[in-house]
Amino acid sequence: MPERCAPSLPLRADLVGEQPYGAPQLDVPHLLNVNENPYPPPAEVVADIAAAVTEAAGTLNRYPDREFRDLRADLAAYLTAESAATGLTTDHLWAANGSNEVMLHLLLAFGGPGRTVMSFAPTYSMYPEYARDSLTTWKAGTRRADFSVDVAEAIEQIRTERPSVVLLASPNNPTGTALDSADVRALAEATADSGPDGGATVLVIDEAYAEFRREGRPSAVTLLGEFAHLAVARTMSKAFALAGARLGYLAAAPELVDWLRVVRLPYHLSAVTQAVARAALRHTGVLQAQVAELRVRRDETVTWLRERGLEVADSDANFILFGRYPDRHEVWQGLLDRGVLIRETGPQGYLRVSIGTREDMAAFRGALEEVTGR
Ligand SMILES: *Cc1c(COP(=O)(O)O)cnc(C)c1O
Repeated sequence: MPERCAPSLPLRADLVGEQPYGAPQLDVPHLLNVNENPYPPPAEVVADIAAAVTEAAGTLNRYPDREFRDLRADLAAYLTAESAATGLTTDHLWAANGSNEVMLHLLLAFGGPGRTVMSFAPTYSMYPEYARDSLTTWKAGTRRADFSVDVAEAIEQIRTERPSVVLLASPNNPTGTALDSADVRALAEATADSGPDGGATVLVIDEAYAEFRREGRPSAVTLLGEFAHLAVARTMSKAFALAGARLGYLAAAPELVDWLRVVRLPYHLSAVTQAVARAALRHTGVLQAQVAELRVRRDETVTWLRERGLEVADSDANFILFGRYPDRHEVWQGLLDRGVLIRETGPQGYLRVSIGTREDMAAFRGALEEVTGR
């Protein structure tokens, strides 16, 4: 960390040498590095959001509704329609400032000193940070060479570690690979008694990219009625084109959600955030109009990269992991020099590109050909 951290500060020993989350925020023409939706909200949505914020502004002398039940009801309705789930009520929903905060709430409630949280690498770089911040031991299990999860093997690893929480992103970041529903069911069954003391492990399926999944991959939301230790995290940051609003959410049994209410900070979701999210949810169709288009462009980009002889992970998300390059940093830098910012992440030799507009992807292809000669 920077020199300005004076050595006399009583910093936690486990934070020495740690760096803040730092995907570069650069001003370049083609931003393809943090899996944002490249399309800004359309004018009609901007107008409705602005009106909702104006209304909320007149009440800002008061704390917001700390249980945000109206927003939770709207999210339950959205999720029911999106995933064909049944029985989801306001009490099954939770939300926070991004699903990152939702998952931190999960670890504050179910992790902690003496406990373990597990995931399967390579996976989302924030998971070890929630572990660190909640003083929970981090254990990374392994995936197959094609980045899919070998469920039998995963269950064995879970039974050995006996974690109180398992975080599994599906589709996974940075690989894009998704679990099929038989795998999620097998994991949910196996985690009913794999926790510390023979109780349950909280199984979190992080579906940040769910709306981008390919046909025939049901959401884990459909299993919630059967498993009280299952939680499904979602976000409005990606498919809803609303990363700037900071709204993530989760669906789980009400008994699980009630413990998240205990650990959140009071009034953690501002009246403005609640108003913005509710306004955006009134425009689900328009906001997600481009999701289908982005999925098609993703599949085309996967094909294009494979035609060049590259190794490309299957993707159910709005990004692609590809490689391998002996010096990936050089490729990343070459693209950046041509105005295309992608992400240097994932296993050695790989790079990750988010799916942007048609123009973004043309610029990406042109720059990659120039830099790597293929
Ligand atoms: C982007 C992302 C999230 C969500 O982030 P927000 O805090 O909701 O913006 C969660 N999980 C994964 C794997 C992600 O890539």
